[in-house]
Amino acid sequence: MDAIRMEHGAGGAAMQRLIKERIVRRLGGSGAEVPLEAMDDSAVVNGIVLKSDSYTVKPIFFPGGDIGRLSVSGTVNDIAVMGGKPLALASGFIIEEGFPLSDFDRIVESMAETCSEAGVFVVTGDTKVVERGGIDGIAINMSGMGIRSPALDSNLAEVRRRRALSSEWLLDSNLEDGDVILVSGTVGDHGIAIISCREGYGFESGISSDVAPLNGLIASLLEVGGIVSMKDPTRGGLSNALNEWSQKSGVGIMIHGDKIPIREEVRAACEMLGIDPLDVGNEGKLVIGVVAEKAEEVLEELRRHELGKDAEMIGQATKRYEGVVMRTEVGGLRALPPPIGDPIPRIC
Ligand code: MG
Repeated sequence: MDAIRMEHGAGGAAMQRLIKERIVRRLGGSGAEVPLEAMDDSAVVNGIVLKSDSYTVKPIFFPGGDIGRLSVSGTVNDIAVMGGKPLALASGFIIEEGFPLSDFDRIVESMAETCSEAGVFVVTGDTKVVERGGIDGIAINMSGMGIRSPALDSNLAEVRRRRALSSEWLLDSNLEDGDVILVSGTVGDHGIAIISCREGYGFESGISSDVAPLNGLIASLLEVGGIVSMKDPTRGGLSNALNEWSQKSGVGIMIHGDKIPIREEVRAACEMLGIDPLDVGNEGKLVIGVVAEKAEEVLEELRRHELGKDAEMIGQATKRYEGVVMRTEVGGLRALPPPIGDPIPRIC
């Protein structure tokens, strides 16, 4: 029998196909400013940025965070990377009968702390309880809305001083030959933090999740200007984010492997697990496409912030190649295809 498999929710090529062929085909056609068909981080309807995300992370408490912090950060980040200023959130809880109230309180308190860090409020929501076994502990849906970030227009004006750009938002399809690619810090931390505390693995990585709301950092980057595209490389990691950009923008991307910041502990854990750190999800990182003339300035601004202090310039969009290619540390060139799915399931 044909059925849903774990990889259908793992943020890679299998999930993209499921969404495109079975969801967008049936539910698309809204004609929104940024519609479902764009399959971008958020939609835009009448100038309102709209996002919905569900969180099923296992375990719910992990080094550096928990499902509550994750739910606020993930939704806020998807609104902010479009050039939106997140304003309000809607939280939907689905809870299993028998779930400890002390754990529930811990989660909601963590949500409150993260909301105040991000400058947003939960303004509506829903609470459902299902019988024992009906769900694995707790799942949270977090939806959110935002308005156009005040600095988005001046940012786009900086782009248009150098080249044409028709979009009014920071879309995955905005990249062009010559744009420089930045990453805001080390990749793979979140996925490795999750798996290292998961039952059955139990290895000590010493790695904490990077989960954090990035809207403050993004607002100050937009002040610098020249940013054409932004994405949070969550499930499927950096390689999935870059491949989505390349496909939607119709331009190649060339990445320098030795420039990608990866913690030694993450590298070691990935080697042990036989997975690529570039396929592993992040929850507090950004990939940024910026016009070449502004790349140094945006990089400097990133490094001024705690959340961007390990930022690097990792590559460039180029029409010389198709898809994503990586210059390896020994100088060879290899294709960097999108992963079928994130190698670590249920990380968010
Ligand atoms: Mg996203």
